[in-house]
Amino acid sequence: MTFMTRFAPSPTGHLHLGHAYSALFAEQYAHNQGGRFLLRIEDIDPERCKKEYDTQILEDLKWLGLNWETPVRRQSEHMDAYRSALATLENMDLLYPCFCSRKNIRNEIAAAGYAPHNIPHGPEGPLYPRTCRRLSQNERQERTASGVPFALRLKTDSAINQTGPLTWYDHLTGEQQATPEKFGDPVLARKDITTSYHLSVTVDDHIQAISCVTRGQDLYSATHIHRLLQSLLGLDTPAYHHHPLLVDEQGQRYAKRDNALTLHSLRDQGHSAAAVRKMAFANA
Ligand code: GLU
Repeated sequence: MTFMTRFAPSPTGHLHLGHAYSALFAEQYAHNQGGRFLLRIEDIDPERCKKEYDTQILEDLKWLGLNWETPVRRQSEHMDAYRSALATLENMDLLYPCFCSRKNIRNEIAAAGYAPHNIPHGPEGPLYPRTCRRLSQNERQERTASGVPFALRLKTDSAINQTGPLTWYDHLTGEQQATPEKFGDPVLARKDITTSYHLSVTVDDHIQAISCVTRGQDLYSATHIHRLLQSLLGLDTPAYHHHPLLVDEQGQRYAKRDNALTLHSLRDQGHSAAAVRKMAFANA
């Protein structure tokens, strides 16, 4: 099997030094293994993703000296693939529509009467209290028929019953027991975009034959849910390498909203690509 890595930025802002590190890391990893390196633009969210950022990302990465294989996969062009994965899960009776707004969810959690420090949390925040999972078939049909927008959530416990225990492998931390139950019932298709990060990334890593997913440690826990989806959908399971996140001198993570260390502004300040590459690895 060819060793294949990828860098998968979302065009919701300019790339910063942390992205440069992640992209260079992925490319070098592939290179060292005699493998291939792909680029994927994760642009499923039309509200937050902008064409100008997409263009800038490619320009910044070229300037840094990265070489990826063409074509670049843009998720917005592959919504059919995500719809078809959802249909598979739907046929397995593993999804349910969720009509709740964020406010409904907050209110429901408040009404459950937990002390603030006892509210059940998962990797993505407070767990969804499964309000819509308790709706009767009639209520569900009425709401869908009346055009109330809905998300699709995974019945995680039923899904785990079907797959049994799962493991995944991270190059830094070794074999991991998958614990997707910690997510409660995550959204797999958002109300506005009919897919989600978890679903599209899992489907795409399979379609692009990625053998090693390299990405930041901030996405480590997401892998538990990705592993479950791979098993349910019959997709390949890559190995993972979650690298530490780059931090600035104050120990803070870089964020797209910080302007000073975008690749774009570093270049404008007169830094060469070689200097920026060095900076990215010096802070790693
Ligand atoms: N698109 C995600 C991001 O920009 C990365 C997804 C991944 O590497 O799995 O944070």
